Amino acid sequence: MPQSPSAIDQAPVWNLVSEYPALDSPELQADLATIRQHTDTLKHQTDVFIPALEQSLLPDEEKPLIAKAWELLPLEKETALLLENVFGYAFMTWSTDSSNSASKELMGLVKRLESSFSQAVQPLHQFLIRLDEELFTYFLSNSVVRDSAFVLGYERRTRPHLLSISQENLITALQLDGHRAWGNLYDNLTSSLSYALPLPDGTTQTMGFAQLLSLLGGNDGDMRERAYHAIHALMETHQESFAAILNALAGWRLEVGQQRSQIAPYHFLDHPLHLNRLERHTLDTMMDSAHANRALGQRAYHLQARLLGKDRLDPWDVNASPPPLGEGDQPLSFEEAMDIIVAAFNEVDPEMGDFARMMQDNGWIDARPASHKMGGAYCSGFPKSRTPRVFMTFMGSTVDLITLAHELGHAFHSWVMRDLLFKETQYPMTLAETASTFAETVVRNYLLERATTPEQKAMILWQEVGSIPRFLINIPVRYSFEKAMYEGRAERSFAPADLCALMSEHWNSWHGDSVSGADAFFWASKMHFAIVEISFYNFPYTFGYLFSQGIYAQRQRLGEGFFPFYRQLLRDTGTMTVEALVQKHLGMDLREPAFWQQSLQVVEGYVSAFEELVPALSQ
Ligand SMILES: [Zn+2]
Repeated sequence: MPQSPSAIDQAPVWNLVSEYPALDSPELQADLATIRQHTDTLKHQTDVFIPALEQSLLPDEEKPLIAKAWELLPLEKETALLLENVFGYAFMTWSTDSSNSASKELMGLVKRLESSFSQAVQPLHQFLIRLDEELFTYFLSNSVVRDSAFVLGYERRTRPHLLSISQENLITALQLDGHRAWGNLYDNLTSSLSYALPLPDGTTQTMGFAQLLSLLGGNDGDMRERAYHAIHALMETHQESFAAILNALAGWRLEVGQQRSQIAPYHFLDHPLHLNRLERHTLDTMMDSAHANRALGQRAYHLQARLLGKDRLDPWDVNASPPPLGEGDQPLSFEEAMDIIVAAFNEVDPEMGDFARMMQDNGWIDARPASHKMGGAYCSGFPKSRTPRVFMTFMGSTVDLITLAHELGHAFHSWVMRDLLFKETQYPMTLAETASTFAETVVRNYLLERATTPEQKAMILWQEVGSIPRFLINIPVRYSFEKAMYEGRAERSFAPADLCALMSEHWNSWHGDSVSGADAFFWASKMHFAIVEISFYNFPYTFGYLFSQGIYAQRQRLGEGFFPFYRQLLRDTGTMTVEALVQKHLGMDLREPAFWQQSLQVVEGYVSAFEELVPALSQ
């Protein structure tokens, strides 16, 4: 039943007042004052660790320093928590009204405070990393630092690659105008690009780069093709700049890696793997499994092509929305969407359904469309009160319903960890999408079971099946391209034509004949290659996707026992490596192909279901 616009207007706005009364409230000012005070104390008191970083001390000289670490770590913890709390508040306020300059200013202020804070705690952390095993065990014996045992212990793995404190500081200082500048150039360049796009009626419309990219996700094939050619023209015009950015980022990282290789060799994958708490062996096994099964994603592309009335997809179709099928998407009210989610979550366990309802009742969801509201969706929260918040714009489509389920999945993940200490709740990107993807799958399967026409089923499955080539072909292309580029960059730099050739080679190796040609300028148009903070911003996506499919497979296998298993697994995501987590909860070794095969079997089920529907729909 079509809804009147007012039904959508009834989507809720959230309650942030429970955290701080206002941006300029005394409560918020008090937290800022505490952050400043603690940072000042840390800055002055961490000086005592510097001699220990420059020369080796005797255990008797280190013990008083360990006592100092016990004294300072609670201050560090409280400051980190408050920084996140205030930043979260500023960001959430800004997301619902981007014209609010006070929240933007507060975000800038918190970023500056955060930078002084991390510099202040640097000597303390380096001291803990450099402690020998025996002294570190002694350090952990104090209950004050119990919640940091995993995080600090894990940080110590970087020890063989640590440089002297003065070298580390020099790198940090040079980074600002060296390394970081290349990322700024990418952002500034792409945000200033515009193109006069020729429209079917003979007129032109001037569009920015982001607008052109968003057209690639639409359901109008002609516009997708026009946007794709426009993007290529823009990339070609600025290809020298884009190539300089990629060469410089890789060159900088390889040079720093060389410097860090004095005790043990430092590989360019070491840093991204460390951040993701993943072993190289696991990554290789996962990518090998994906490559061996690339036909699954190719089959998905072929099926999508049939529904689009083509023999095979063109490169501008790989992110297309489904063509209109049957009666199309019937708009839902927010209330109806919540009822579906609660019912679907209840089938997993009433605790999950009750949680979703509580999010709604407590006013922790902001879903009402509004001008000046930021696009996209996210889940955030306040570490002080340990309460999550979900942000999105709800317009009543099935895509919105699934987005709401996805973000509520994230919120549930943080909710089941709310009694753990703050440090124990920080999980890596590899595990961040587990609960969200799981929640999506639960709701999608709930809808699929209740869909009555092939058109309804196809609309639901298009999304599910569309994820397969995204995570099992497109992301691996990015990974294998980037890896080959780093391997080659050690010897030489790449001209734009070399980067296009390298991208095409890896594109074709993963796509086979499922797409008519390679997106040769993907290395320039994909912003992820130009992120400064982290390289290889790709493989965690494939990991997260296959991991959550593997978790979903346990739902059938464990039946009644599934929910307690799932809950405990989520609770452990902040205090274990990914391999240890899977070993503990599934008794499986991620370094072996068996785990990945099990996930791929689930994925194969979606392709087969879609395959059965397509012939009837594409006649
Ligand atoms: Zn997510």
